[in-house]
Amino acid sequence: MIPIIGIFPSVGSDGKSSVPNTYVRAVEASGAMSLMLPYTSDRGIIKEFVRLCDGFLFTGGVDVEPRLYGETKSPMCGEISPLRDEIELTGFASALESGKPILAICRGCQLVNVALGGSLYQDIGSEYETNIRHSSAPGDYSHAHGVKLIHVSPLYEIMGENGTIPVNSMHHQAIKTLGEGLSVEAEAEDGITEAVYMPRAKFLHAVQWHPERTLDDAYSHRLFDAFVLAAKREKQKTEQ
Ligand code: MN
Repeated sequence: MIPIIGIFPSVGSDGKSSVPNTYVRAVEASGAMSLMLPYTSDRGIIKEFVRLCDGFLFTGGVDVEPRLYGETKSPMCGEISPLRDEIELTGFASALESGKPILAICRGCQLVNVALGGSLYQDIGSEYETNIRHSSAPGDYSHAHGVKLIHVSPLYEIMGENGTIPVNSMHHQAIKTLGEGLSVEAEAEDGITEAVYMPRAKFLHAVQWHPERTLDDAYSHRLFDAFVLAAKREKQKTEQ
């Protein structure tokens, strides 16, 4: 049976949910199918959604509300969506409790960190000294900088023997203080955190780049393969 990856969508102020099809295609390319959480903030329904799925994908999107990590909104912070924050915080707590695999991308990475009590740079450009441009022009998903994989982290294992991999970069925010239970597994050369994982979870990885946009590179593909493999194992376990 094919595993089901639950996707948390963007939730617009216009009352519409959406998921870029690049996420859907990435999940399918590794042998799973996706299911998008419908437009709801009903906790019971979100819990039921988590029960149905074998793994969870937290996607990119608008900035997380700074109040959630104890800061007032800087003028450089971008658009926020309190409804999406609420839905995803509920969904993340439930997904984490389920023990099923979680992959979080870009905003998803920031959301996971905040959900676990960490904080964010509201705007790298105005709060962090760096020569690297982390926020590429809209739509430019070409390789922007390298990330150094921490030796013997699970991500290092997933990517093979390479210590540094090239990634795209579409974020103007990043992890400032680390959420509880998370460890850094990749950094840009300027020290910005680019990937974290939870050692006590079976599979919880959060990356700051967009692997779903560069599936033609082996590293991006390997990450989705590892995620879907973990979801397959989860599914086999529940079917036994
Ligand atoms: Mn970056």
